[in-house]
Amino acid sequence: MKCPNCGLINPESALRCDCGFDFQSKTMKDSYLPIKEQEKLIAQQDSGFFAPEKKGIQKGMVGGMIMIVIAVVWFVAGYAAGIFFYYPPILMLIGLYAFFKGLLTGNVSGEK
Ligand SMILES: [Zn+2]
Repeated sequence: MKCPNCGLINPESALRCDCGFDFQSKTMKDSYLPIKEQEKLIAQQDSGFFAPEKKGIQKGMVGGMIMIVIAVVWFVAGYAAGIFFYYPPILMLIGLYAFFKGLLTGNVSGEK
C-alpha cells in the first residue's frame, strides 16, 4: 500500500507509514521513526546532562575536590541566605565519588 502522503510503499499490514501517516484514521500522527530518533536524542541529552560533572570525574582527585568545594560554598551560601539548595549535596556526592575514584585509579588531575 502506497502512502498518500509521502509515496512510500508500506507493507499491507502497516498501520502507519514511516512519515507518520496513519492508514486507519487517514490522518497524520507522530511517526514511529521520529519517536525512535527522539529517543536517540533524549539518550544523547541524558549523556550530556551531567557533562560538567562527568568532566569533573575525569579530572580525578582534583576535579572531585573542586566539586566538593563548589558544593560546600554553594550550600553554605544558600544556607546563609536561608535557601536550601538540593543540588549541592548531590554535587558533593559526585565530588566524593570522583575523588575516591581518582584515588583508587591513581588519577590525580586527569585521566591519561
Ligand atoms: Zn508516508
